[in-house]
Amino acid sequence: MEQWRSHAVGGLRKKHAGQHVRLCGWIHTKREHGDLVFVLLRDREGTLQVSIQRTEEKKELWATARDLRPEFCIQVEGKVHLRPPDAVNPDMKTGEVELIPTAVTILNECKLLPFPINKETDISEELALKYRYLEMRKPTLARTIRLRHNLVLFIRNLMNDMGFIEVETPLLTRSTPEGARDFLVPSRVYPGKFFALPQSPQQYKELLMVGGVERYFQFARCLRDEDARADRQAEHTQLDLEMSFVDTDDIIAILEKIFVSAAERFSDLTIKEKPIPRLTYQYVMDTYGSDKPDLRFGMELIDLAGAFTACELVPLKEAATRQDQTLRGMVIPKGGLWSRRELDQLKELPEKLAGTGIAWVAYKAGQVRGSSIKRILDEQTMAVLEKLASPGPDDLLLFAGGPWKPTVEFLGRVRTHMANKLDLIDKSMLAFLFVVDFPQFEWNPVQNRLDPVHHMFVLPKKEHIPLLDSEPLSVLSTQMDAVCNGFELCSGSLRNHQRELQVKIMKLIGISEQEGIEKFGHLLNALEFGAPPHGGAAPGLDRLLMVLQGTERMSDVVAFPKTYSGRDLLMDAPASVDQSQLDDLHLAIVASDTRGSSDCDKGDGSTES
Ligand code: ASP
Repeated sequence: MEQWRSHAVGGLRKKHAGQHVRLCGWIHTKREHGDLVFVLLRDREGTLQVSIQRTEEKKELWATARDLRPEFCIQVEGKVHLRPPDAVNPDMKTGEVELIPTAVTILNECKLLPFPINKETDISEELALKYRYLEMRKPTLARTIRLRHNLVLFIRNLMNDMGFIEVETPLLTRSTPEGARDFLVPSRVYPGKFFALPQSPQQYKELLMVGGVERYFQFARCLRDEDARADRQAEHTQLDLEMSFVDTDDIIAILEKIFVSAAERFSDLTIKEKPIPRLTYQYVMDTYGSDKPDLRFGMELIDLAGAFTACELVPLKEAATRQDQTLRGMVIPKGGLWSRRELDQLKELPEKLAGTGIAWVAYKAGQVRGSSIKRILDEQTMAVLEKLASPGPDDLLLFAGGPWKPTVEFLGRVRTHMANKLDLIDKSMLAFLFVVDFPQFEWNPVQNRLDPVHHMFVLPKKEHIPLLDSEPLSVLSTQMDAVCNGFELCSGSLRNHQRELQVKIMKLIGISEQEGIEKFGHLLNALEFGAPPHGGAAPGLDRLLMVLQGTERMSDVVAFPKTYSGRDLLMDAPASVDQSQLDDLHLAIVASDTRGSSDCDKGDGSTES
């Protein structure tokens, strides 16, 4: 028998009855019934009942048993007994047996717990994060940690089977201005110089392709100095991958294999559509008002411009007729039956969901019951509107008009808001999709320049390359995003493997050849040594686990998450350091009120590589 333990606590079954075992674990619960103490012992495999009876010969054991408290770490030794039939607990995997110990040793006591482990209680996020190691003893997080391990193992094997080689890339690298804000690491040896922690191994993976690795993958930690959100943390893990001699179809096929097999193996949810549908950026924006649409429910946006082309109200007419504008709406099932108050509350949507305005028409038994813009809804307009939208007899028709992107995005938020309000989202589904044909660039009105929609290494569509100089905003790229249930799971693309094209794209986004050489010389150089055509993607592991588990919070799937404000409450980081450490790094701290306004924000983070 092994010295500490012979079996896992949660692994004992009927077949072990009669065996002498030694177990280690934590006390989940303890109950005293006169001369009997019942302890529910727990390890990571499950729980087991340990029964201690008070007898003359077991005086010492009895005394120890009475001292036991929840979460004491103990070792017990004794015989496994079959429980009498009326004491069998069908809800426990070990429910047919119990342990009657001959010895109990307290390995470590547990002081007063900040919250109970053996039942779910409402505790603050702060407490849960500060005592994450206690939270981890609870089944939910314990299960997730195990699931994450199994998922990683599964994907690793899958990648190996598909011919990918795992390569680690450096954590200390250089800051390059292609993405979000970097975490910087000052160099002790080179005063005034800094390493940066990688936002992603984008450039390394491309260099691996130049190096002839052909198919690379890595579970890569990516660090971006951005504010956290429910679905985003400053550090996250990506399944980073890159392949040589491929087209977008080849990359999508690999991603599809990963998502579908992982979902079938690790999720209780059903994949809505296989093969995973591919929709264009233009289509999803027009139809769902988002480039990461949730396809678990309908309420698609409908083009209603046709009803307002001759409208007297100039903004509506402009929205309906101008090329760069749109007028769209959606039908809310049974919304026509809402109370007057609920209809009035629609006025608040623009403020709540960042829009400029919204109009509505409510129907009851096929008749117009009320409308926010009665004045302009003459018979002719109504007729076209109803033809275009085909509302049901008791539905509500919502619409908005204005510049294309902000208007469809606002309506997209309204769509999600209404789906939540009306409980229309089928939570048993995994609705994957690939979004393709993204624009290569978007206009950044603040900096007055073009920004790459994904990152600057993305290859434009071949047939659009001639438009780069004349109509850069019409150029579509080889970017493909994978989306599930309204979450972006990954972005990827083919890359510029020829220096000339890469330099041209840098120039278009405001990086001169000189600056490009200074900051990206390593990559530009490498492209001149027979760099192969290549492309790749980087599914977020945390996001994938979130959708497979049906949770919307990243902290539910990470062992040691940070708070929304970017703090590690467990380690109490970030923290001050000694003056000598600062001296070693040639750094001085400037009090924040004298710092001035050196804003180092490089944008909205949408161009991360
Ligand atoms: N490096 C990119 C990212 O982190 C993904 C890719 O293009 O492969 O979003």
